[in-house]
Amino acid sequence: GKGTQAEVLCQEFNIPHISTGNMLREAITAGTELGKKAKSLMDEGILVSDEVIVDVVVERITQKDCESGFLFDGYPRTIPQAKALDNNSIEINLVIEIDVPDEVIINRMSGRRVHVGSGRNYHVQFNPPKEDDKDDLTGEALIQREDDKPETVRDRLEVYRSQTLPLINFYFERAQKEDLDYLKTSGVGSPAEVSQLILDK
Ligand code: AMP
Repeated sequence: GKGTQAEVLCQEFNIPHISTGNMLREAITAGTELGKKAKSLMDEGILVSDEVIVDVVVERITQKDCESGFLFDGYPRTIPQAKALDNNSIEINLVIEIDVPDEVIINRMSGRRVHVGSGRNYHVQFNPPKEDDKDDLTGEALIQREDDKPETVRDRLEVYRSQTLPLINFYFERAQKEDLDYLKTSGVGSPAEVSQLILDK
């Protein structure tokens, strides 16, 4: 998934990984106002409102560790979120589109298991824990994210099509006229194979 690839790229280029999904999940665990607003929406696979997420992102990006670059994972997810970057003078140099067919996405997500405390991800088939349903490092229980259940994944794909897909054209057109690179890669294959495809380009 995009989170795994984002981690590889952030290590490679030594830049912070700005995952709005992770930030929202942390807010839920911490029981903050943001977490309360986000929880039921996320469980159903619906996007958190642009207003809320833009504030969170701008606040994060203006911190010192982002001064020499950062990588967004899961942001922007709508055209208004992309426009908010312009309005806040946040410049994007590279967009990576990772293309994965729906059936592969549903299969991957339904097998994903997470250790809530650390965010460590496993997959029952592709990256199983040493012991079934237990985190390798702590031995604590792994869970399936509510939004990884197959019914919810189908809803998320619909949300993607209606709200996020338009960003492909938005950034592709921009790449024709502005100083922005657009890289499209297949996301089918093992995590290491996909990382190699991205790093080779
Ligand atoms: P992710 O971990 O990126 O798949 O995000 C999980 C969920 O968090 C999404 O289904 C949304 O409910 C919410 N979310 C994450 N990023 C955004 C965003 N940029 N805008 C709105 N909602 C988001």
